[in-house]
Amino acid sequence: MGMSLAILFIGFFQFTNNMDMEISTFLYLKEDLISKHLEHGTYRCCLNKPCSYCIGDAHDGRKGCYCLENIMNGKSPCGECVGEILEGNGNKFLAPYFAKAISENTGHEETVKQIISEKYNIPIEKQV
Ligand SMILES: [Zn+2]
Repeated sequence: MGMSLAILFIGFFQFTNNMDMEISTFLYLKEDLISKHLEHGTYRCCLNKPCSYCIGDAHDGRKGCYCLENIMNGKSPCGECVGEILEGNGNKFLAPYFAKAISENTGHEETVKQIISEKYNIPIEKQV
């Protein structure tokens, strides 16, 4: 193996190592921020695992996450929550409210109800 190849290899190893460290630092900060918000009651998400879109500002401009409140009021949660809910990762106790809230901006409420019905095992007529 030539010298330059060895240096390249070591360099790449250090690069991936740094990436891992940066990612774990980021994840730590993310969890820390969310838990601080949770303590103050300003991070009320609608997912099983709180979203990270709302770490800066909620999508409606407030500080913290109000996705749970939005769901209950028939207002769309943040984009991350919309995607996660459709994948079945929403808080199942909120399932009756998902379709109306999600389709506030996107429309297609009947189709969304169908998806929610399948993902959360709840009949369409039990949804708001
Ligand atoms: Zn959210």
